[in-house]
Amino acid sequence: MAKINSLIIEKNAIYFLLKELKRNMISGKILYVSDPIVDSLYGDIVKKQIEQIGVLKVEMVDNNSISYAMNLAERCIATDVTCIVGLGGGKVLDVCKYAAYVSKRLFVSIPTTMANDGICSPIAVLKRQDNKPKSLGCEMPTVLLLDTSLIMNSPIDLIKAGIGDTISNYMALKDWKYAVEKNQDTMNGYAYLMSQNSLDALMKTKFNHICSAFISVLANSLVLSGLAMDYAGSSRPVSGSEHLFSHALDYYNSYQNLHGIQVALGTIAVLKIINEDYLDVLTYLKKFEVDINPSHLNISEDMFVLCMQKATSMRAGRFTYLNDADLSEKRLRLIYKELVEEL
Ligand SMILES: [Zn+2]
Repeated sequence: MAKINSLIIEKNAIYFLLKELKRNMISGKILYVSDPIVDSLYGDIVKKQIEQIGVLKVEMVDNNSISYAMNLAERCIATDVTCIVGLGGGKVLDVCKYAAYVSKRLFVSIPTTMANDGICSPIAVLKRQDNKPKSLGCEMPTVLLLDTSLIMNSPIDLIKAGIGDTISNYMALKDWKYAVEKNQDTMNGYAYLMSQNSLDALMKTKFNHICSAFISVLANSLVLSGLAMDYAGSSRPVSGSEHLFSHALDYYNSYQNLHGIQVALGTIAVLKIINEDYLDVLTYLKKFEVDINPSHLNISEDMFVLCMQKATSMRAGRFTYLNDADLSEKRLRLIYKELVEEL
């Protein structure tokens, strides 16, 4: 398990880069990785700090395929890059995370969005050659600088997706407990508690709209979810049936929604399927205007039925409530109609 040396979540954290590079004794060739839009907004702040301690190399990411990340890793090895500094959203950071893991380089992560718990997790999601997403195990960043003022300026839909991904811990934890009861998995009590705390911090927050103080709460929750994954050595603490449903959508549905929105829909949908109370979660999502109505997400009734039925086959060994639930077409069509009306 790679360890995070520095974890900073606060306003203006981007300006702490130089201090953190020094503290972690990083010098030599430092590869700055971003995309052109983010680079034009915040790139100079990062590049100027790198130039004060090392030799700046620049890479602009234009895709997030596995082969591209492997190629970047190879170039890091061949040209003696010591460290990768990634500035951007999930796509840029997942490329960096995987390239750093393969090349065994240090990774400094500076997220500019917070749409899921991948901002601080040992998993990178990259595209295969057929353009389908693939979750790949790797390592945590060495340094995480989460600048809440940058996130506050990011698109609100991405923040709402971050809320959705944290809320999905509700279903993931239920599924984990169920799998343990059925002797299909083992429990890691501390990882369970970390994921539960991540969820509780968000669910019990006194804020009822997205403001700067709420962003800090959400950032801490997402990071804690990532740490729970790292501690458990798997995504089990934060990924259950609702994630399997979302993976099926990623695979079968031609329209791509944000991951955090799909897993929030999955949470409510599965709770309905297994006849469990979902009102607390739904009320919370509505309070923050997180729209998960499948008809607004280009998820048709047929697609919903298909993806719920295919969910259990999306990941070997992940036992959830769906393994024992009634997934008949008739019942799923009824649930879909209810979701369209209620959400
Ligand atoms: Zn997730």
